Amino acid sequence: MSSSFFPTPRTLMGPGPSDVSPRVLGALSRPTIGHLDPQFIALMDDVKGLLQYAFQTENALTIPISAPGSAGMESAFVNLLSPGDTVIVCQNGVFGGRMRENVERCGATAVMVEDAWGAPVDPEKVREAFRKNPQASVLAFVYAETSTGARSDAGTLCAIAKEFGALSIVDAVTALAGIDLQVDAWGADVVYSGTQKCLSCVPGISPITFSPAAVERIQNRPGKVQSWFLDMQLVMGYWGGDSKRAYHHTAPVNAMYALHESLLIVKEEGLEQSFARHHRNHTALVAGLEALGLSMAVAADYRLPQLNAVNIPDGIDDGAIRGALLNDHNLEIGAGLGALAGKTWRIGLMGHASNPGNIKRCLTALGSALRRSGYACDTEAALTAAEIALGE
Ligand SMILES: *Cc1c(COP(=O)(O)O)cnc(C)c1O
Repeated sequence: MSSSFFPTPRTLMGPGPSDVSPRVLGALSRPTIGHLDPQFIALMDDVKGLLQYAFQTENALTIPISAPGSAGMESAFVNLLSPGDTVIVCQNGVFGGRMRENVERCGATAVMVEDAWGAPVDPEKVREAFRKNPQASVLAFVYAETSTGARSDAGTLCAIAKEFGALSIVDAVTALAGIDLQVDAWGADVVYSGTQKCLSCVPGISPITFSPAAVERIQNRPGKVQSWFLDMQLVMGYWGGDSKRAYHHTAPVNAMYALHESLLIVKEEGLEQSFARHHRNHTALVAGLEALGLSMAVAADYRLPQLNAVNIPDGIDDGAIRGALLNDHNLEIGAGLGALAGKTWRIGLMGHASNPGNIKRCLTALGSALRRSGYACDTEAALTAAEIALGE
């Protein structure tokens, strides 16, 4: 007979999901109420306000989509695009490729701007693509490329879109609450995220924000949005302004309690402090990894503090090490994706998981697994290097 499921707890230091805070798990277990109950509507309003804080925006259309980060991505494209449109899509990792898929499925044309995996998007190439394709109406790029650990210059890229009269779509799934993300100051038009990365919430919800210019484009669409579920004109009636809420779909009520709690935690800590913590812990992890003799896959200027890509040393079996971390230490780190499979590990320090204890747990586990695979390394030296970087 089947029985209740009790997973062995893991420390989640991969590309997501990341460790969920106990406060968030506690919120999830509170009593379910109706999704049109006045109490729930008040919660929805508070969630919107907290999301505006996290996104650093006053955009009225700032809401959580009831589906994972990928649905946020799809929402951005299906709402802004119409068949025949041209979109400049930057690709420097896996997620830019998914953007292209979305563009093409909308019947639009994707003009690709390619950069090496692990490098940031080159703004000059984007300018050049706009000069060659003046009809392009949207620029899409990934701010924090989780597949490689590289950070692009989102502010500059949004400004280039404006310079050429286009709207910007920014993937901030891994960025939100981990690195600075100034939606209004940068003039970003559609920015989407996910709950399972630096928000340390359960997976399955996608916060998204639309600028007034993006809302105007949606309102003046020549035809209907191809997706019924993600059509913002309909979703707005449910999450929308101050008027009565119309039933669109049943919000994942308890998951919204969880999101609310995770956003409260972000606000209590403060964005600036959260960015500083992610940066400090990243520096300490890198110091420790380098003391183990490992090297980072991304140049120092473009490294994401929340996603650390490490080169796998020659002769070391990727799967065996990750297996040892999971089985012997209950610690999950990520494998390389696509072109980087077998070449890098991706160590997440996201949200709640970005803390000194996890850094030390990871260095200890990695040092021991590497040593047992015949790789000479000094775990004590790695821990000392991390402690010094942390100021301990
Ligand atoms: C994780 C991630 C996504 C997809 O989010 P899901 O919640 O897995 O659907 C999209 N873009 C980036 C950059 C991501 O890291």
